[in-house]
Amino acid sequence: EPWEDPSTSPIDFSTCLEKFDEAMLASTYWLCIFAVNEHFSICGDCWDCREGKEWSPRMFKADPCIGGCKKAKFNPCKCGSQKHAAGDAAYEIDKFDQVVERMEALVVSLDPELATLTRVWVLAEVAIALRGKPVRFRIAEGLEPRKASALRQGQSIVTPVQECEASSADDRKRIIDQIEQDGGCKAFDAYVGSMVGLGLGSCVFLGRAASQEALKALRGVGDVEISLVWCPDADLAQLGFGEAHLGKLAGIRSLSVQMPGCDRIQNLQLLFQDVAKLSTLEGCAFNLKE
Ligand SMILES: [Zn+2]
Ligand SMILES: [Zn+2]
Repeated sequence: EPWEDPSTSPIDFSTCLEKFDEAMLASTYWLCIFAVNEHFSICGDCWDCREGKEWSPRMFKADPCIGGCKKAKFNPCKCGSQKHAAGDAAYEIDKFDQVVERMEALVVSLDPELATLTRVWVLAEVAIALRGKPVRFRIAEGLEPRKASALRQGQSIVTPVQECEASSADDRKRIIDQIEQDGGCKAFDAYVGSMVGLGLGSCVFLGRAASQEALKALRGVGDVEISLVWCPDADLAQLGFGEAHLGKLAGIRSLSVQMPGCDRIQNLQLLFQDVAKLSTLEGCAFNLKE
C-alpha cells in the first residue's frame, strides 16, 4: 500500500534503486509478504467453522461466514479458491525451513514498536533461520523511544512465544507444538530473545540465557550482527558487555558490529574484551559508517 503522502515516507523510493550496485540488484530476494499465495492458503477461510473440511467456493466467498459462526471473515475475498491442507506439497505456509535452506541470509524488517515480534510466525521463522543463516534485524523507521529505553534497561522486548498471536489458531498450535518438541517454549524465548537483543545491541538477554536447551541452540549460531545504532550513546557495561556473555555463542565464526553514529558510546573496550575471548571466531568487522 503506498504512503498517503510520499513526502512523509522515510525512504525515498524514487532514488533508492540508484543507490544499489549491480551485484545487489542481480541478487534474488524472497519477500515473505509477497511469496505466499494467500488465495490458496487463507483467504475467505474461517478457522472456527471449516476445521479442515472441503468447502465450496461459495463458502469461501461468503462474508460474513455462512459456515455457522456468522462472524465477519478475517481475510474476506471474492476468489473462492480451494485451499491446500497442511502437509500437502502445494501448501505454501509450512515450507519456510525449505526456503531458508536456499537463502544466504534472512532480513527481518521490524516496525518501531516491535509489534512484529508479537507474531508467532515471525519468531518461528527467525528461530529456524538462526540455525544456519545470518539473521539481520532492520528498523527502517527507527526504534520507538519507549522501546529503545526498554532495550537499554534490559526489559524484555520480545513477547514470550506462548503469548504471541497468529491469525489462525491451527497455525499457532502447530508452531507451539513443534517448539515444545524441539526444546520447549522457555528455551525458545531465551534463544530468540538473546539473538534479537544482540541484534539490537544488548548482551543482557544473552547473559540471562541459562538452560541447557537454550545454550545448545545458541551454540548453533554461526554468524552474528550486533547493531549499536539503537543505543548510540549507551554505556556498554549497562548493555551487558564485558561479562563474556558472548562466549555462550560457542560456535560463532563471523561477527559484524554496526556502529555508525555511535561515537558517544561508552566503554567500547568491553566489547573488544568479549570479542577477544571468542576462540571460534574467524572474522570480525566493525562498520563505522552507513
Ligand atoms: Zn482469494
Ligand atoms: Zn465461521
